[in-house]
Amino acid sequence: MSGIRLDGVKKQYDGGIVAVDGFDLDIQDGEFITIVGPSGSGKSTVLRMIAGLESITDGSISIGGQQINDVKPQDRDIAMVFQNYALYPHMSVEKNMSYGLKLNSDKADEAIENRVREAAEMMGIEDQLDKKPSELSGGQQQRVATGRAIVRDPAAFLMDEPLSNLDAKLRSHMRTELQRIQEELETTTVYVTHDQEEAMTMSDRVVILNHGEVQQVGTPREVFTEPKNTFVAEFIGSPSMNFFDVRLEDSTLVGRDVTYSVSRPLAERILERSTSDDLILGIRPEHMTFAETTHDNGIDAVLEVREPVGDDNYLYLRSGDTEFTMRVLGQVEYEEGDTLQVSFDESDIHVFDRATGENVFVYQDVVSTAPTSDTKQDA
Ligand code: ADP
Repeated sequence: MSGIRLDGVKKQYDGGIVAVDGFDLDIQDGEFITIVGPSGSGKSTVLRMIAGLESITDGSISIGGQQINDVKPQDRDIAMVFQNYALYPHMSVEKNMSYGLKLNSDKADEAIENRVREAAEMMGIEDQLDKKPSELSGGQQQRVATGRAIVRDPAAFLMDEPLSNLDAKLRSHMRTELQRIQEELETTTVYVTHDQEEAMTMSDRVVILNHGEVQQVGTPREVFTEPKNTFVAEFIGSPSMNFFDVRLEDSTLVGRDVTYSVSRPLAERILERSTSDDLILGIRPEHMTFAETTHDNGIDAVLEVREPVGDDNYLYLRSGDTEFTMRVLGQVEYEEGDTLQVSFDESDIHVFDRATGENVFVYQDVVSTAPTSDTKQDA
């Protein structure tokens, strides 16, 4: 069993900066978990603490049920893959891949050679074993760095932005490749990236970090459909979720540029969970549709910019002082400068408490607790 557990982990650097605080996470054996957040949010610090490259100020970290707070990095049975690959320039690919194992294990040379060959085949670099890193492309160097980690057969892989030096096409290809290898090896993996798309496409679960604090932990689907707060809502998804300042008046969300009536149970749920009627209405660009008329359910807006992205269109709209984005597939008949009506389904809205930023409304909760038509008749 090689799950990793972090309990109340804190890191305060010498200068006084608290980079990570109260970090709790239970990573299952064989899980692919991604820590994602903006630059400076503490992602690398968490990874480096698991690796033992940084000491922890408070809390505890365990691997496979054993606390490792005071265990030396080389004794933690983990392999790291870095953004800059960290290959030895004067060594061949084969030496780069075998060096760590030769140094830290008592395995026979032949067994190590076999392991290197297997890992090289897995990464598709079996023809490159005699070359030096400088003779390889960025993508090939990345494969060597990953192959070197595989050779170690560790309890866990720790990967710090391993694909960010590759061009977009190769990055997307390597994502799939890393996923395939992780699934095949079933090795617990902690992956760090600032790229939400990478996190959303590769992981079993995602940890969203901001200012050293965990904002939400969940499957890609959970963090997308049920973001816990405005930070997660804005960070996950591209283009970002649109926000409108609104107040709840009876069952209607009323803002300067938007009016949206919700059903009674929804309004009650929002009131129950929020600290005041001062709210933020959130709608994802892809959940907005053109409407014949908005009446009291939508937004009247002017199309300012239309940006075709392949088969997709990003429409940048303005309603009064509020700018927002819509994402529409296929042909769009509107021209820049046109006035149009935009609406959305009740099941797609998100409502946040403005004072706390917390999500106060999950449509599925309301639907699942609402009386069914049968029980209504009985009552
Ligand atoms: P991320 O990986 O999310 O970009 P980091 O973990 O690198 O974030 O950094 C988190 C915070 O800790 C930042 O404010 C950064 O400046 C600070 N920090 C990182 N390393 C050190 C260090 N060695 N000494 C002092 N502060 C550091």
